[in-house]
Amino acid sequence: MKYRVTGLTSAVLISFSDLTYYHTWSVALLGGDRHTREKSLDKTFDLLVLGGGSGGLAHAQRAADYGKRVGVIESGPLGGTCVNVGCVPKKVMWYTAEHAHHLNHAADYGFDVTVGAHNWSALKSRRDAYIKRLNGIYKSNLDKRNVEHIAGYGSFKDAHTIVVDGQEISAERILIATGGHPVVPEIPGAELGITSDGFFELEDRPQRVLVVGSGYIAVELAGILSALGSETRIVVRKNGIVRTFDSMLGAELMESMRAHGTAIETGVIPKNLTQNEAGLTLTSVDGRTFGPVDSLIWAVGRAPNTADLNIEVTGVEMDARGFIATNKLQQTNIEHITALGDVTGRAALTPVAIAAGRRLADRLYNGMEGRHLDYHLIPTVVFSHPPIGTVGLTEDGARAEYGNAVKIYSSSFTAMFYALGDVKRRSTMKLITVGEEERIVGCHVIGEGADEMLQGFAVAIRMGATKADFDDTVAIHPTSAEEFVTMR
Ligand SMILES: Cc1cc2nc3c(=O)[nH]c(=O)nc-3n(C[C@H](O)[C@H](O)[C@H](O)COP(=O)(O)OP(=O)(O)OC[C@H]3O[C@@H](n4cnc5c(N)ncnc54)[C@H](O)[C@@H]3O)c2cc1C
Repeated sequence: MKYRVTGLTSAVLISFSDLTYYHTWSVALLGGDRHTREKSLDKTFDLLVLGGGSGGLAHAQRAADYGKRVGVIESGPLGGTCVNVGCVPKKVMWYTAEHAHHLNHAADYGFDVTVGAHNWSALKSRRDAYIKRLNGIYKSNLDKRNVEHIAGYGSFKDAHTIVVDGQEISAERILIATGGHPVVPEIPGAELGITSDGFFELEDRPQRVLVVGSGYIAVELAGILSALGSETRIVVRKNGIVRTFDSMLGAELMESMRAHGTAIETGVIPKNLTQNEAGLTLTSVDGRTFGPVDSLIWAVGRAPNTADLNIEVTGVEMDARGFIATNKLQQTNIEHITALGDVTGRAALTPVAIAAGRRLADRLYNGMEGRHLDYHLIPTVVFSHPPIGTVGLTEDGARAEYGNAVKIYSSSFTAMFYALGDVKRRSTMKLITVGEEERIVGCHVIGEGADEMLQGFAVAIRMGATKADFDDTVAIHPTSAEEFVTMR
């Protein structure tokens, strides 16, 4: 039996008679030069990866390095959330805001600087071009390893078969790494707002912005807009921001953001969003109104991409919110189907998805029995203004686990960066230790340079560092980081 299917981005000729298919896939979706290539492949793969984001690509490439025949099904541009609508464009925008911050302090250092207008759309063009280059690099990384990039949306036909644009593709093993998407509350007018995805599509900077949400994405986007001159207001349901981190971090960030121009309103439960010629207005259930604004950004959480996978036919279990249930080895309840990354609802961060994907390939395809990612002590940074770095237990978490054995060290100071000017921002650090040996179980910092500070400390803490180890380490002077080894 032979049949041909042609579509916008793919042309496939499948011959079931000799269990071989030949196909050409265009890379037009990636925006690179239009080219096609032909390949002869076995009908089935050793491994099919559903989702070409951080975790899926990491797993696919490592499996291919171990000699497996791998296909990656991706419905959008390669690289997933992080590269296209997450970490990467966000960090470009954070650097942009950092430039504004430094320009504002240039006079302190003797520069006669007149800061002109910022050209948002020129920045966006450069940022988009950079991301397109990254998409191309991801594609060539797959090509180098003979990993097949299958462009299109995949859904299960059965536990070994995925259908993409009408094509059935089978594999011995399947990895689900479909990530997540931003959620929008179910209230009248919600569609008038945008999400973080929409933020990266903005061609111009909105002058008046309302950001709804208290998590890291909310404070990061608000920080960027505020630094670039937008009148920015954050509204949160409860009474604080970045509430999953140590409470010191949220309190310090809130004070700093408020002091430097970002309004933060607490106890706001959105009721509806309306629009008139003056702009968008959010009304809360207690009758308060916020607006008019030019743009409202929903940053109220993310949900897994599982609803349209037809996953039911596989028997893979999900939790009530649609996250795929996995054990520490990334296994689902179906032996040959694994899952990792944001779709599993655990520590939704790029390096986590990558590390889980590589370790999984090491275990499945390189005989490293039992190898898995340890989800404890994952360091992370919030690219707020000022930035936050954090690893390990919060003070509340440590007290709940270790009670009176907890001892806290902290330090608050003004970073030297602000020494010559009148406008200053505070840096605050906290070390959480446990027991007589004062093993460090938590390390938290907010302030200038925090984003680049924590990676090395995370290594030390993972190795079981104590307060005495920190004290015995010679300080690097003059830095903010040295405070961590000089605390009393
Ligand atoms: C605004 C923002 C900022 C962030 N900043 C950071 C940061 O600074 N640091 C950090 O570590 N993390 C950050 N993250 C989180 C990070 O982006 C995610 O944790 C990471 O991308 C998860 O990787 P993943 O492989 O699980 O999923 P993803 O990267 O989301 O990849 C999933 C892929 O699957 C594809 N897909 C879904 N369903 C199908 C289907 N049925 N068929 C084919 N393809 C499908 C999607 O198109 C997507 O490309 C940020 C996220 C956001 C939204």
